[in-house]
Amino acid sequence: MGYRGAIVDLDGTVYRGGTLVPGALDGVATLRDRGIDPLFVTNNPTRSPSAYADRLESLGLDADPDRILSAGSITATYLAEQYPERPTYVIGSPGLREMLDEAGVVRTDDPDAAEVLVTSHDHEFDYDDLTAGLWALEDATAFVGTDPDLTYPGGDGRDRPGSGAITGAVATVARREPDHVLGKPAPETLAVVRERLDCPLEECLIVGDRLDTDVALGERGGMTTVLVLSGTTTRADLGADVAPLPGSSADLEPDRVIDRFGAIGSVVDDHT
Ligand SMILES: [Mg+2]
Repeated sequence: MGYRGAIVDLDGTVYRGGTLVPGALDGVATLRDRGIDPLFVTNNPTRSPSAYADRLESLGLDADPDRILSAGSITATYLAEQYPERPTYVIGSPGLREMLDEAGVVRTDDPDAAEVLVTSHDHEFDYDDLTAGLWALEDATAFVGTDPDLTYPGGDGRDRPGSGAITGAVATVARREPDHVLGKPAPETLAVVRERLDCPLEECLIVGDRLDTDVALGERGGMTTVLVLSGTTTRADLGADVAPLPGSSADLEPDRVIDRFGAIGSVVDDHT
């Protein structure tokens, strides 16, 4: 029996910045040839699945928006299900707000009226936002971060502060940890992913370039974990002590390591 499903990371796995990782299209074709329709899952919270589908198409890769999840779309789904009709204050990008609106999340611009606070990557993040976050958390407001990523690679290859940095700033000033941090490797994300896959997680691969998000999510779900070396993790990082994110498994060793996603055939064909 072979693998029946695959979760594939985007940044560092399929593309880096504005260019495809060499062989990425072959990787997708290899999976599809074997009847595996990959589900792309990214921790970027600022863009919707349809925006990602357009981006992938411009790089020559056809993907249905239904086969793409972003930390933004996962957060929108989660909030609509778990906190319906609850006034939600958002510190985040215009793209995230749009996804929340489309999912029917009720947003408020008044931090004192908020019953839910969402924190996420925001280029415009400033002192007033930090104040609003502090005020929103003065009472029993639910505190939800879109994803844990402290940094992400900018187009020039240098790191920029990500959602985790902003969630951390709000948590620090409010002296309170978030109740949920979504994206990979959160258990809440695993639940959303499980609904999208048409097979048990144990029969799935997860392919990505990060130990603390991609490999950690796969371990949590009992998937076969495949690390690619085309992104943030180098061979030297393997075996080194990688500090796991809060709540994730301490054992972050991938089942398989390949140079690039294009070589995924060697993993799929090995499986008996
Ligand atoms: Mg990645």
